[in-house]
Amino acid sequence: MMKFQVLQERFGYSSFRNGQEAIIDAVLKQQDVLAMLPTGTGKSLCYQLPGYLIKGTVLIISPLISLMQDQVEQLALIGERKAIALNSFLNSRARAKALQNLNQYRFIYISPEMLRMEGMIDRLKNVSISLFVIDEAHCISQWGHDFRPDYLSLGEIRECLGAPPALALTATAQKEVRDDIKHYLKLKNPNEFIYSVDRPNIAIMIERVQTANEKKQRLLELVRQLKKPGIIYFSSKRVAEEMVEHLKLNGVKAVAAYHGGMDQEQRILIQQQFLNDQLNVICATSAFGMGVNKNNIRFVIHFHMPGQVESYLQEIGRAGRDGQESVAILMYSPGDEELPLRLSEYELPEKWQIDAYFNTCQLKNETDLVAELRLSETQLRFLKHYYLLNSQDIEQQINKVKTIRMKRLNYKVNKVWQMYRWIQSTDCRRKQIITIFGENDYSKPADCCDICTFDLSNYYEELTHIENLSSNSWVKRLQQLLKQEVNPL
Ligand SMILES: [Zn+2]
Repeated sequence: MMKFQVLQERFGYSSFRNGQEAIIDAVLKQQDVLAMLPTGTGKSLCYQLPGYLIKGTVLIISPLISLMQDQVEQLALIGERKAIALNSFLNSRARAKALQNLNQYRFIYISPEMLRMEGMIDRLKNVSISLFVIDEAHCISQWGHDFRPDYLSLGEIRECLGAPPALALTATAQKEVRDDIKHYLKLKNPNEFIYSVDRPNIAIMIERVQTANEKKQRLLELVRQLKKPGIIYFSSKRVAEEMVEHLKLNGVKAVAAYHGGMDQEQRILIQQQFLNDQLNVICATSAFGMGVNKNNIRFVIHFHMPGQVESYLQEIGRAGRDGQESVAILMYSPGDEELPLRLSEYELPEKWQIDAYFNTCQLKNETDLVAELRLSETQLRFLKHYYLLNSQDIEQQINKVKTIRMKRLNYKVNKVWQMYRWIQSTDCRRKQIITIFGENDYSKPADCCDICTFDLSNYYEELTHIENLSSNSWVKRLQQLLKQEVNPL
């Protein structure tokens, strides 16, 4: 079969999207590939399509359970039954059954944690793996915004599995992160496909307010006026919940919260309702988004300042996947940089936590330790990883880990200031972004950013637009009548 035939008959597309074909060609030639494609450009096709043209199983390592489930469901919709997601979500009976029949699958999605489970690699050795896919590959880099220590061993695991060709996929990664990906995955002369991070159909705007209260009021106005659906990102679960209440109290309908503190079922329900247009607005933390295949998101608002340009881009990239005009609004009030600065520290264990963990983790169980040392999930992940690497003298190891912590903290803090400078700058926002990513060319859309040319009312719901133009009710009424005549719908 030819790739175009698979594209049409299996996936129902008449042509490739920007970048896909070149990547697929390289994958089919069994070369190692590193591909950076902006969110929403159809990354998964780059390994799913080859899955039908090469013999053997495609193994996909993915950091997010919801993302895997979603992919397996999407494949089922196009008639693919030989796809499975191996993660903690699968009950033990189903898992045991799947493990016995691993070599019958065309696509196996697996989380890095599950890969490290005892016996897993041995099982996978019996499968003929034709392609080793690493999704969200930036997680491998300690400079990446979602560093996952589990990812660091993927290079060795690939070698254990007979070194099948690798495809590393990411949406946003600056050069240092891309270098880490190549290094840790042990890619051999990889073919690199780096596509622009610029999304011309998303207008970028900073909305300045003076106080927290003003921000809250302005958010309400924006949500009322803007075309929906939309996502509002928060750095705090509590504030996300509060804003849902605030919006509801003020008449905004079909709005709900989504964050990591909610249980899995609730989260899946909210996500489904949003996908089915039963919800219009989601107040979310960064837990929301990866794997949410919704094309018509018209706005993404950041209520809090993101900690780095990469995660900001990834989040605004969820708007306008259908290619239609969309808007990204970042709300800023003086001092907003303090929250991401605080959060950077919170993600890493403090010095006393490092001391306590290394000295007592063999004596106590994990649950007690987490409670006693008040460890967050990311702090625990960090400590566990470096404890396992522990070989020699414990004091020496503690000092080493403290140095690593300092380095990472400095890096994160610098990232926050990079974001801050971007907000404060008076240069075109789009131009600055592509410069940060080492690119030169960019499109200058009619609605570019708040520094260039921009008219927010282009993104208003039509009726609201009319209401705003006229405060007199008779004018409004007349306009509505006229509108009815022109457009009887
Ligand atoms: Zn601009």
